[in-house]
Amino acid sequence: MSGTKLYEGKAKILFTTDDPHILLSRYKDDATAFNALKKGTIANKGEMNCAIASHIFQYLETQGIATHFIKQVSPNEMQVAAVQILPIEVVVRNIAAGSICKRLGLAQGQPLKQPLVEFFYKNDDLGDPLITDAHVSMLDLATPEQVTQLKQLALDINHHLQTFFERCNLILVDFKVEIGSDANGHLLLADEISPDTCRLWDKAIADPTARILDKDRFRQDLGNVAEAYQEVMKRVLATIS
Ligand code: UDP
Repeated sequence: MSGTKLYEGKAKILFTTDDPHILLSRYKDDATAFNALKKGTIANKGEMNCAIASHIFQYLETQGIATHFIKQVSPNEMQVAAVQILPIEVVVRNIAAGSICKRLGLAQGQPLKQPLVEFFYKNDDLGDPLITDAHVSMLDLATPEQVTQLKQLALDINHHLQTFFERCNLILVDFKVEIGSDANGHLLLADEISPDTCRLWDKAIADPTARILDKDRFRQDLGNVAEAYQEVMKRVLATIS
């Protein structure tokens, strides 16, 4: 049973529940890119991403990562802990792709020496700009202790996701996470982990376009978008913790 709509984002809607500590997150088929300049839908994406994210949140919990996930309650809905989302998008990169290639002139597909953590200011009006720790502090987006925790948490999540996706025969190129603070001030992994938020390449395919199994197929109009999500879902759900 969902209560009142609290917030509608680009890919999900959050509803209240009878319990003030629990929200309902409903995944949508809507897809956006380039700060919502490009809009569309991906058939069945809500159900696919909800299934993928539920499975991955449960895997991460078994690895000691605290998440907002409580339980999946329908094909496209999960109960989550109510948290205060930090206005920072935390990106972890293992291989150069997307915005870092444009920004630093790196070649697409170039492996990075070590995982890189980047912060982006979650602000649609500004187009989510890249920010440094100094900006985080200046804008009061998080405390210095939270910044230290965020970086470690992001690297820990990357480590566990790399192991997991390796077992799916997928390469984890990069991903974005959002972190929330619960009523006790503990940081929890929130939002979602899915092909909307991760770059995933098929390990078995060398062709740089054919191997893409994530939202880049939608961003770049590469076709077979839903099929790519379906393939990721199949592999993720078949991977037991
Ligand atoms: N990402 C995301 N939401 C955003 C921006 C990025 O989930 O609003 C993910 C994206 O799917 C990729 C990673 O974060 O896995 C790094 O994205 P990047 O900075 O390269 O931006 P993009 O190329 O998508 O503009």
